[in-house]
Amino acid sequence: MKWQGRDRSSNVEDRRGRGGGLGGGLGGGLGGLGRGGGMRIPMGGRTGGGLGLFGTIVVLGIIWFATGQNPLDMLTGSSTGAAPAQTSSRNLPAQGEDELADFVGVVVKETENLWTEVFQAQGQDYPEPRVVLFTDQVNTACGTADSSTGPFYCPGDQQVYIDLSFYDQLRQQFGAPGDFAQAYVLAHEVGHHVQNLTGVLPEFNQRRQGMSQEDANAYSVRIELQADCYAGVWANYAGQQNLLDTGDFEEALNAAEQIGDDTLQERSQGFAVPKTFNHGTSAQRRNWFDRGFQSGNPSDCDTFSARI
Ligand SMILES: [Zn+2]
Repeated sequence: MKWQGRDRSSNVEDRRGRGGGLGGGLGGGLGGLGRGGGMRIPMGGRTGGGLGLFGTIVVLGIIWFATGQNPLDMLTGSSTGAAPAQTSSRNLPAQGEDELADFVGVVVKETENLWTEVFQAQGQDYPEPRVVLFTDQVNTACGTADSSTGPFYCPGDQQVYIDLSFYDQLRQQFGAPGDFAQAYVLAHEVGHHVQNLTGVLPEFNQRRQGMSQEDANAYSVRIELQADCYAGVWANYAGQQNLLDTGDFEEALNAAEQIGDDTLQERSQGFAVPKTFNHGTSAQRRNWFDRGFQSGNPSDCDTFSARI
């Protein structure tokens, strides 16, 4: 991606290198469990992060890499069998992460440009989300999260959270290298913010309470696929700004494929259990990212009435 030298967002908050998040934020942070309904990318296969897993919390993300944990635990907030959170010794930004932070700033800025345009075309404002970079652990309106939570969006404070070490995992564990794979992850999370503004997320949070787990999973898949489609719309926009290098689109497409539920489950446990899928299969995720990319129009991302 041709990102160097471009404007960075002023909404990226750098909380890296502060170590554990339990120090200063106890007052507001932990008390907020369950307030927000976080949309996370579970990536550690643990619930140890304790991201306020209340009934209202939606756990939706890009990543399941199961480490033997039932993905349903993440959706329901049950913490049975959760391994204790792994403590990382890394409490300072790793080498190269500063450049990555700059990259994040540019991508976030480009999402702001796109969505401001889209909302303005409808006569509406686009309240920009904040993006918080953290190391190891962070307090949010959705509760306390650690790195194993993966990138996530918390509707309660309208913030995206990411520990940049996630990008190493994306490349190494998930086989999704490339800067545009990284951009896709951010654009997907920003997509959840858009869903929060359009009412899609609040409605989901409300309706899922009366649903069976299986129905909630199916609903969740449609939410996730829409966020993928929005990420595709953003990739289209980035193309219009001449930001795409050869191979960028394929990097994102590959990332979407690598983190499909079927692929992740097969990789971790050798078989897939479709009724537990809550993000979408590899084929679905590829398709919806591609659909957004080809169209460039968010109104083509209606995953709720479409056949997915
Ligand atoms: Zn998601």
